[in-house]
Amino acid sequence: MSKKKGDSKFLDSVNQMYDRAVALLDLPPGLPEQIRSCNSIYEVRFPVKIGDGYKVFRGWRACHSEHKLPVKGGIRFALEVNQEEVEALAALMSYKCAVVDVPFGGSKGGLCIDPKEYTRDELQRITSRFARELANRDYVSPSLNVPAPDMGTGAREMAWIADTYRTLHPDDIDAAACVTGKPVPMGGIQGRVEATGRGVQYGLQEFFRHEEDVADAGLSGSLEGKRIVVQGFGNVGYHAAKFLEEEDGAKIVAIVERDGALQNDAGLSVERVSEYMRETGSVKGFPDATYVADGRPVLEVDCDVLVPAALESQITSENAGRIQARVVAEAANGPVTFEADQILRAAGKIIIPDLYLNAGGVTVSYFEWIKNLSHMRFGRMERRMQETRTQQALALLKSVTKAQIPEPLERSMQREMDELNLVRSGLEDTMREAYQHIRLVWRERDDVPDLRTAAYLSAIEKIAHYYTEYAVG
Ligand code: NAD
Repeated sequence: MSKKKGDSKFLDSVNQMYDRAVALLDLPPGLPEQIRSCNSIYEVRFPVKIGDGYKVFRGWRACHSEHKLPVKGGIRFALEVNQEEVEALAALMSYKCAVVDVPFGGSKGGLCIDPKEYTRDELQRITSRFARELANRDYVSPSLNVPAPDMGTGAREMAWIADTYRTLHPDDIDAAACVTGKPVPMGGIQGRVEATGRGVQYGLQEFFRHEEDVADAGLSGSLEGKRIVVQGFGNVGYHAAKFLEEEDGAKIVAIVERDGALQNDAGLSVERVSEYMRETGSVKGFPDATYVADGRPVLEVDCDVLVPAALESQITSENAGRIQARVVAEAANGPVTFEADQILRAAGKIIIPDLYLNAGGVTVSYFEWIKNLSHMRFGRMERRMQETRTQQALALLKSVTKAQIPEPLERSMQREMDELNLVRSGLEDTMREAYQHIRLVWRERDDVPDLRTAAYLSAIEKIAHYYTEYAVG
């Protein structure tokens, strides 16, 4: 999406949002600059034999804040990746981890590559080589720097990274914890693939529990029947749309992809669109929807919630004034520029900010990391005991009351304490608590105009506290 001349670049946008919040705090001189700056960035170029020749690849890994270790953040594979983007994403990771109380610093990595141009075997060799370059300099390590999936990468790439690290460090008993988002048989965790989209759902559910916030957006009621437009139908966009449609009764009235958009006022079937995309590689030609070749104006259609879930700088000063959604739910990182943010807020829109809303991924990554360090899946020790106790409690209740226990209650009591349910419970709790905290900052402080500033403020306060109380300078 073209940026209007004068719109801040991604890193500048993040820094200006940070500056706006930090100005409201009374921190010791120098500390605001320290928290804002990227501690280190490593740029690497490496060759991989492709066909008869060699191809040189360029990648980065940034450590934004090491106030807590390990640092954590995804690895992105895309042609547009550049150093500033990686720094901006790493900064967002530091703030995000602080917002949801995940004990990591912030990092991010990126490789300039269009994954679609390579075979599976070539991609495996490229990823392994990149991982080796990073691991040799401690930019992949269970105790120092733990990557995860991002745009263009998934469980498969994480498995290759873990395998590379293990080969380099065969004596590291915690090697599996060097990366998260792995396939479950390789030490991954149930629920990680869906985690960011699931977190978006839990975040939106929590927003709709607060009548005052919903009313400020000019809306009422719950997610049921709300008209939602989703941009980006990858890991995050697909899962968020699926759960909002199937579990909350929302209507997905448009899906905007790279190659066009699908619109249907009665609501699209997310699963059917996904199957169609898997089969054809495109949204074009999907039945039961109007296809629009230029997806960009579809962000501006009348709807209740707009969920940008593709990439940064999608809502700029060029199109912000035409956005009709009442709520902008930032599933992607940095989808709204600093300038667009001001235009949207002046128009009375509520923005649920990225550094809160897409934190589901890193939250479940934290659970995976803990699982890897403990070398045991969650629920293994207590599942049977809990099952027996529930059966005993139900039997007792039935014998004492002689009454029929309502079926939903019985089902809920019998819900297994298995890994997936535990992960979902932990994620829901995290997303609900974090929203309640940032909305309190927003509501209680007259100088905090919106949820984004509240989220930055909350993150900066927590990181600053760590520096002033525990760090030796
Ligand atoms: P992905 O690669 O799985 O999906 C991205 C989708 O966006 C793809 O389907 C792509 O075709 C589409 N897209 C790209 N450019 C587009 C455009 N101009 N218009 C419309 N669609 C476009 O990536 P993802 O993992 O879903 O990540 C999406 C966003 O969410 C990124 O900003 C990422 O940083 C953020 N995020 C991801 C995670 C995670 O766990 N994967 C966690 C936190 C944040």
